This record gives sequence, C-alpha cells and structure tokens, in this order.
Amino acid sequence: MEYESVMKLLLERGFFFPSSEIYSDAPAGFWEAGPLGLGLRNRFVDLWRRELIRRDGMIEMEGSQIMPASVFRASGHLESFADPIATCKQCKSATRIDKLLEKHTREIIPEGLRESEYQDLIDRHNVKCPSCGGQLDTIRLFNMMFRLGIGAGNDDAYLRPETCQSIFVDFLRLFKVMRCKLPIAIAQHGKSFRNEISPRQSIIRLREFYQAEIEIFFNPENDTKFEKFDAEKDTVLRIKKADGTEVVQRCADFVDANILPNRLAGYYLALLQKFYGTTGVDLNRARFRELGKMERAFYSSSGFDFEVETSIGWLELVACNYRGDYDLSRHSAVSKRDISVMDGLDKVTPHVFELSMGVDRSLYAILEHNFREEEQRVVLGLKPFLAPIQAGVFPLITRDGLPEQAQSVYRQLCVDFSCFYDASGSIGRRYRRGDEAGFPFAITVDHQTLSDGTVTIRYRDSMEQSRVPLTELSDKLRVLLAYS
Ligand SMILES: [Zn+2]
Repeated sequence: MEYESVMKLLLERGFFFPSSEIYSDAPAGFWEAGPLGLGLRNRFVDLWRRELIRRDGMIEMEGSQIMPASVFRASGHLESFADPIATCKQCKSATRIDKLLEKHTREIIPEGLRESEYQDLIDRHNVKCPSCGGQLDTIRLFNMMFRLGIGAGNDDAYLRPETCQSIFVDFLRLFKVMRCKLPIAIAQHGKSFRNEISPRQSIIRLREFYQAEIEIFFNPENDTKFEKFDAEKDTVLRIKKADGTEVVQRCADFVDANILPNRLAGYYLALLQKFYGTTGVDLNRARFRELGKMERAFYSSSGFDFEVETSIGWLELVACNYRGDYDLSRHSAVSKRDISVMDGLDKVTPHVFELSMGVDRSLYAILEHNFREEEQRVVLGLKPFLAPIQAGVFPLITRDGLPEQAQSVYRQLCVDFSCFYDASGSIGRRYRRGDEAGFPFAITVDHQTLSDGTVTIRYRDSMEQSRVPLTELSDKLRVLLAYS
C-alpha cells in the first residue's frame, strides 16, 4: 500500500496524529500516539525485549532525557552534531544544504564538511533556494540538539539526541552492580530529541522520537572466543556493499571476507534480522547496507544500516555501528574517571558495537508491509501478538438482551486482553472496521449465546468462524495470541 493511504488509515483510526493540532503554531515533527499506536508500540517493545534482550541475556536500563553539556562535549555532539543550513535572502526560509546538494548532484555529500567547503559546492553547482529560486545566504552549521537551561542558574544542558549516552556514562556502575563479564550488551528504550530543520513524512522523521538502542561492549582481542556466533554463523544475510554490489551469503562468509568487522557483529546482525522477521516485516524487502567512509558518523569505523523497502523508498530502521572504544575513551578523558574493566587478566577499555533502532519508523514499516487491500475490505494483517486491540466484542444485533450479554463478555475479557466493544452498524461493517484496525479476532454474541453459552470467534485473515463455549474463551484467546 502507498504511503498516503497508509497514513490516511492511521489518522482515521487514531494510531498517530500531529501534536497540538488545534493550534496554528504547532511545529512540525511532533506526533501523538493514540490508543492503537501506543498499543502497537508497547507490543513492539515487548517483542524487542523478548527476542533480543531476554534471548541474548542483555541488561536494560533507563537514563534521564536531560543531560549536562559535559556529556555532549565528550560524545562529540556539541562540536559535530550539526547540519549545514542556509537562509534564503528573498523568502527567508532555511534549507538544509547537504540534502539540497545531494538532490542537485545526485551524489552523496560527506558528513562534517566545513562551511567554506559547502559554500564552494553551492557556488559550483549554482544552487538556489528550493522554495522561491532566490539567492542563498552564507552557510552556517546548525546544531541539532535542543538546548535547555537548568535551575535558576540556567546551566547548559541538552535533551539527549540519542539514548545511548547514558549507557556509556553509566557503563562502569552497571557493569559492577550487575556483575557483568565481557561481552555484555546494555539496552535502552526511550525518547530522543533532534531539532531537525525540515521534519517530514509524519512519523518517519520526527523531532521527538523513540529509540531502542543496544550497545554491546566487548574485548576486540577475544573475538575468536565469541562462542555464541556458532548459533548464527549459517544465517543468510543480504548486504549491499559500499561499492554498490549486493551479496547474499552466510554470516560466517561475510566475516571471513572482512565485510563484517568481526564475529560478534555478524551474530548481532543475524539476531536483528530474525527479530524483524518476527515483527512481520517482509524480509524479502530488507537488507543491510554497508556505509561508505563518507556516510558514516564521526565515531564509526564500520557501519551497516538495516533498511526495508517501502512505498517511499528504502527506509533506514536500524543503524549498526562499530564505535570502537571512542565512547568510553572520550567519557573517560573528559570526566577524568577510569572507565576500564577487567577481562580475565587484561584491563581493557571495551569496544562497542551498536544496534540503534528507530522505533517509530519501524512501526511505520510494519504497518505498511502488513496492510493489504482485498476486493471487499482493507486488512491490517498484523501478527496477533502485535495487534494493539486483540479482540473486538460485538452483539449481533442491538436487542433481545444481546448487548447486555456482549457487555458482560467484554468486561470479563478486558481484564486480560485489550478488547474493543462495538455495537453500531451492521455486523459486517463492524468486522470491516476491525479488519482495518488490525483486530485479529472478533467475538460475536448472538441468540445461541443466550441458550447454550457459546460465542463465535471470527478470524480476521481467513474470515472463518467457529463456536467456542464462554467458559473456554479466555484460554482459547491466550493460545491464539501466543508468540509464534
Ligand atoms: Zn527562497
């Protein structure tokens, strides 16, 4: 399904909608999650915890969203987390220059150029304001962090632009209190904030968004001893290399060919791909894309974006970066604390491999890949365990005591399941609405319910129905909603 149709359905069903929308000064790039969007995200994060954190024995933490300037001095964000922008002399609109140049030259513009280098490119390609064709004013670098003042002293602090910094800052404490041994993965799910110059495409590029990040700390000298790798060495990955060629082969072959930096990275890419398989993202339209030197973040020595194909092109869902010892070394240097740990008899500053997941855009990809248009209906074919509403509860008609009976079934099920009661319109219309919102099951109370205590379960995907005694309904639903 196309992006516009997906977003129309999501708005109509209240999955996601623009923030502060009754006010005309509401800035772009902020979106609310309605009940269905929130429900979907909660289930997605539950699945992330199940398939990655618990399955791999990671630990999870939650850090503050506001952090002091020193953190970002150490991380490099104060200096380097900036986009080049130019304001139009005529219409005064600000434009992101690197993206504009990419459009003009059809080439990738490297990150972190100096102002003068961007200016040269602008002059050479004679690039004008994209809104009005006017002259662009001098280029400046615009830092994308939101700056805050703390307390009466208005001390410099920032909303975090990524969740991982608290994992690095707190690494030593976490490592000690959880009595960790290398390698250890530490995960965090939460909000991050980036003052994007031109946020667009609804929940795909937001200024306030959710990340689910995993930082794996390891001793690079011990990669050959990384035994977990054996479980995933035969997993087939598809990698589009930086030179443009695409290779599909076993994880182990990528490591042997030095396309992947080490076995540990290979193992976690395989795990990540499996996770997305369970979300219902179509893995035939998914790949890892190796980042060229020009595209990588300043701290990254090797990087792969996990991307899926959607109606608006390939969408980056997870940035997988080999960060080396950059983060811990920097925090150690700036805080003047020793952040090294013992690995056997060696004292090491661990290296980091990171899986930095964009949650909102992952949800978008899952939604787009799972909407389908059939002749009579639109179906959101989410896996039952991801569905925000697990069952619709409907009286067949609104008389003869059926609504009262259906309400009582609804109240009972609500304790353990998320259900939606709907009595308005024909039963066919109610089924269709449920299909569109991804209800995997619909429970209908009819006249037979009153006489023999059974209800029908209608299956969204097959549209088949079967009768179930009310006494067995909860158990039945539990089985149908189990992870598979
Ligand atoms: Zn202009």
